[in-house]
Formats: sequence, C-alpha cells, structure tokens
Amino acid sequence: MSRYWSAVVDGLTPYVPGEQPKLPDVIKLNTNECPYGPSPKALAALRAEVGDTLRLYPDSNCDILKQSIAAFHKLRPAQVFVGNGSDEVLAHTFLGLLKHEQPVLFPDVSYSFYPVYCRLYGIAYRQVPLTESFEIRVDDYLTPNGGVIFPNPNAPTGRPLALSEIERLLRANAESVVVVDEAYVDFGAESAVGLIERYPQLLVVHTLSKSRSLAGLRVGYALGNAELIDALCRVKDSFNSYPLDRFALAGAAAAMEDRAHLEQTCAKVIATRDRLAGDLISLGFDVLPSAANFVFARHPQREGVELAARLRERGILVRHFKEPARIAQFLRITVGTDAQCAALIAALSAILA
Ligand SMILES: *Cc1c(COP(=O)(O)O)cnc(C)c1O
Repeated sequence: MSRYWSAVVDGLTPYVPGEQPKLPDVIKLNTNECPYGPSPKALAALRAEVGDTLRLYPDSNCDILKQSIAAFHKLRPAQVFVGNGSDEVLAHTFLGLLKHEQPVLFPDVSYSFYPVYCRLYGIAYRQVPLTESFEIRVDDYLTPNGGVIFPNPNAPTGRPLALSEIERLLRANAESVVVVDEAYVDFGAESAVGLIERYPQLLVVHTLSKSRSLAGLRVGYALGNAELIDALCRVKDSFNSYPLDRFALAGAAAAMEDRAHLEQTCAKVIATRDRLAGDLISLGFDVLPSAANFVFARHPQREGVELAARLRERGILVRHFKEPARIAQFLRITVGTDAQCAALIAALSAILA
C-alpha cells in the first residue's frame, strides 16, 4: 500500500503470466506458445509495413482485419471485434457484457485471468467446480447468472466440451451472455462459431497467439451477434481508439488468409501431443485427455512444484499452479517440437529414477 494508490489498486491481485526467460537456450514449455514460426505470408506483410506510413495512426475500425476474420469464419465484419490479444477482448467482455447483478459463472479450474478481471471491474462471480475427472458439467450452470464463460478446450486441463453440450447450455440460458473462449480450439475441439447465427447471446473468443504462432503480435478477436460486438466497441472506444498498431493489423490479416499454414501447424502439434501423452503415461504419469496444445499431467508419487523445479534446473520450463489445491500435483506442459518433447521425457526419466 502506498499513500498515492487508489483503493482499487490496493485491492488488486494481478494475473501472473508464465516466465519469459532472458536465457537463449531454455526449452520453453510453460506458456503454450507454438514451437513453429508464423505464416511466411504474415511475416512478409509485417516487413511491407515498415515505412513512412508509420507516421499515421492505424485504422481504428480495423476494417481489413475484420474482413479477413469474417471471411475465414463465413460471418459478416459486423459480427467481429478485434483487440490487443484476446486478453484485452476478454477484459472488454467482462466489463461490457458480464457485469450484472447476478454473478458470472466459470469453472473453478480454468483460465486464472477470469477472476482477475472480475476483481478489477467489481464483477460478482461464482466458480463452479469441475467434476472429479475435471470436466465441465453443463447442468451445474443452469442457474440464474449474470453470464457464463469457459474455455473450450478448458485450460489448464485441456479437456474439451462437446458442441451438443454447449448448445444445450445456450438453449437453457437465453437471458445472459455465454462466452466460449476458444484459444485452443484449433488443436482438436469443436468450435461454437457455427451457432452464432442461432444464438444471439453467444460470444466466441479467439486468439492468434496459439495456433497461428503470433503471441508476439498481440491479436485476438470475438465473434458474435452485432449487438454484442457493439458493446465491445463501445468499451474499446472509451478506453483506447488504436489498440492494434499497423503491424498487428497487416500481419494478422495475412495470417488469417493462410489457412494451409494453420492446418499444417496444428497437425504437427497434435501428432507430437499424442506421442508426448503416451510417453508421459509410460513414465507413470496420469495425463488428462487433451484437445489443446498442452497436456495436464501428474505423477502420483511426486509433487508438481518439485518436478517443475527439477526440470527448471535442467533448462526446461513447464507451468505449475499452486491453486486450487486439487491441481497442485499437476504440471501443464506445452507441446513443443518432437526434439523438445524428447528432451523433456529424458529429463523426467532421470529425475524420477
Ligand atoms: C492464451 C490464452 C488467452 C490469451 O491469449 P492472448 O490472445 O495472447 O491474450 C485467452 N484465453 C485462454 C484460455 C488462453 O489460454
């Protein structure tokens, strides 16, 4: 507490992002980045943007990028909102669509930024426990609420929720917004984008940070009924007119247009993920079935915090969450290249021996 702080700042518990090490040769499996580079077309578009036009502000409406995103998803540009990473899109969503008298509902084991936004904006929330096997049970959300939000596949568990279950929730929950955070959907879950035309309360959030290998560019977007999108625009234009710079606009539009690169990247990550899960099981780990670019695993005889520390000594970073207590034994391991995953397995074998 400083005498200069507002009461709001004094009460915050900020989100703690995964470590971004300064050392060059660590094997970085802790923040779910893609181990392969972005689309060469996106890189070319970024290079073409270096020039005198940088003296001009970017397009505050982001029209060209919205068109690329709309074309990819077969929607209209008015159904697209873009932001500086999906974290910003989520922040605007909490303030613009989820702040009501009733609490917003999300899983107890989920993206740990959600409660941070709730506290920042003074939003009532209730964390709904996952089942024993770490699954979302839609029946637990069929209560009065100020909105529902969950990742699909869920993070950090990696478990997907069937589209039929999401539709069952939407049919029963028409009075508040349902947000599906599809940060990892390209790695194996069913997208809810196809339901947008039928459910005006559905907002689907995507990021270019994971499957499109552009975490460094900071671009995310939301898809939904134009009325929901308008709410997000109103928040954005009350906060920052230009959250996406000229590089982000150009690079992201080119990345959206390179579908082949996306598909190749995801196919490689999925193949490595399935091998990695098998290798971890051979070492005695329990591994939750993952539809994401990470696996969530625990060794029944070892503490997660200890394994993470021993891996770190060997130059391998993975993510460990102390809370909630029911996941303290788990490690969240990003799927790297085959060589990185082989190095991880070799290190774990040595640590466990
Ligand atoms: C990584 C992640 C995001 C944020 O992605 P950015 O676009 O990089 O801000 C959002 N939701 C979930 C569940 C994530 O894991």
